[in-house]
Amino acid sequence: MKVYKGFTASPGLVLGQVSRLDRPPLVFGEGPFHPEQEKQALEDAIKVAQQELDEMAGRAAPSEQAIFLFQSMMLEDEGFMNEVAFQIKAGVGAAEAMDRVGHRYAAQLAAMKDNAYMQLRSVDILDVTQRITNILCHRIRSWLALDHPVILASDLLMPTDLFSVPAGRILGLITAEGSDQSHAAIIARSLNIPGITQVGEDFLKDCDGREVILNATEGECILDPDAAARQSAITCICEMQRQNKELNAQLELPNRTRDGEEFELLANCFGPEDVGTAMESGASGVGLLRSSYMMMPGHAMDEQEQYLFYTSCLAAARGRMVTVRTFDFGADRTMADAYQGVQSSKLGLRGIRSSLRNLPQMAVQICALMRAATKGPLRVMFPMVTNIEDWDSAMQVVDYCRRKLAERGAEFEPDVPFGVMLSVPAACLTAEDFTAHGCRFFVIGTNDLTQYTHAVSRELAIAEHYYRPASPAMKKLIAMVVDAAREADIPVTICGLAVGNAVNATQYLRLGLRSFSMSPQNLLTIKKALRDADAR
Ligand code: PEP
Ligand code: MG
Repeated sequence: MKVYKGFTASPGLVLGQVSRLDRPPLVFGEGPFHPEQEKQALEDAIKVAQQELDEMAGRAAPSEQAIFLFQSMMLEDEGFMNEVAFQIKAGVGAAEAMDRVGHRYAAQLAAMKDNAYMQLRSVDILDVTQRITNILCHRIRSWLALDHPVILASDLLMPTDLFSVPAGRILGLITAEGSDQSHAAIIARSLNIPGITQVGEDFLKDCDGREVILNATEGECILDPDAAARQSAITCICEMQRQNKELNAQLELPNRTRDGEEFELLANCFGPEDVGTAMESGASGVGLLRSSYMMMPGHAMDEQEQYLFYTSCLAAARGRMVTVRTFDFGADRTMADAYQGVQSSKLGLRGIRSSLRNLPQMAVQICALMRAATKGPLRVMFPMVTNIEDWDSAMQVVDYCRRKLAERGAEFEPDVPFGVMLSVPAACLTAEDFTAHGCRFFVIGTNDLTQYTHAVSRELAIAEHYYRPASPAMKKLIAMVVDAAREADIPVTICGLAVGNAVNATQYLRLGLRSFSMSPQNLLTIKKALRDADAR
């Protein structure tokens, strides 16, 4: 029996047999090649690959369809395909040309160390490249002729791997490398397949066909477990199955407390991928869409690119409200963040302060949002608003965008609700000023409000005891916001990690809150806790 440690990619506990997924290296023909024939072979392979990807997208949850679409679009990308064509023209075989260009593109993206989004795309490029080379070399794309469910082990998992095995045959996933942020991990989470990453190469050497306990929640696996470990795992699995059944039963139940108060559950999301998952977990909308995560380093997304991003989030939300937060540079720790410089640190010009110093960029975002709002219910909030001057300045930009869009004759929604994300105590203490100036909703951001209220960094473990999201001070601030919202008759939502904690969520309920936004995976647990609580 040997224990291997890794990192949780998708929680869960399973016991089963390992099947190692190998990718033997490709050997390319030596040629000579006829460029015309190779070009034709490549075109045919692209058609087959796109059909396969379409078919996988058809089997995927709506939230994952974008992954397959991206891969399919890559095969139509002019820059990429021109480079492949160039190599073919120079006498390289189609498979090798695709392999060379694909790996080069993927390596470039993978090198963007502080941009997790681009790194994800790197694996997609490898995945689609491999699909084409496999078709050209007549190799199978369905990995395993499995006749029983197994725990897949591999160096790295590609997004399409999970769809290349007959449905229901994957019990769990173990990878030697990889990241919990990869698309394969996102898909695993949404399919509820437990998985861990970064267990190291050693595990792969001799795991094929052997029994393993995969405790993905704890980020570990046990190869060749002894009788006691086996028995304890089986007991835990039975208990978890019982709890899961109980939680899933929550989906059908009304959002109502024990004493009859209705409440609303929303989700905190990053993009179309997890918006879809949130809707399936019972969210009635998105309470926070962190828009900064779609930005790439050194590339300010233009209005059309942003418009497509927001409309795909609306599509994934299937008619439910999406609350988009304008860029929160200085807080979201993306590469685009770094571009804003040190002045955008926690106590500097982050959030709306940063946007107001870059008005052209802010106007592009507001215009894209107002255009997207014609496609579904969308509202917009500004982060790090401190005083009424911030709000007034932001709303002047909104007026400007309305005029510009009208002048251009663009189709847009002029009456998008704008609101404030309350994460600065000064703003909570003067909440009624915002409603007096036309603020249509509040979202309390407990992550930052806790940090700014107690003067403690949310990332500093050593000072953790000062970081108390439901302290008496927090409760006073929250109660003031709830009162101001009630007075002006506007909705108020509370969001942040603390809301995913049943004890805190229940305390917020008692402060008068009825709308809660949290990570999609916490929705059902919190629903159960609130249903079991009394609001008064
Ligand atoms: C918050 O501050 O509570 C919040 C949800 O925003 P973020 O975690 O993105 O700062
Ligand atoms: Mg915040």
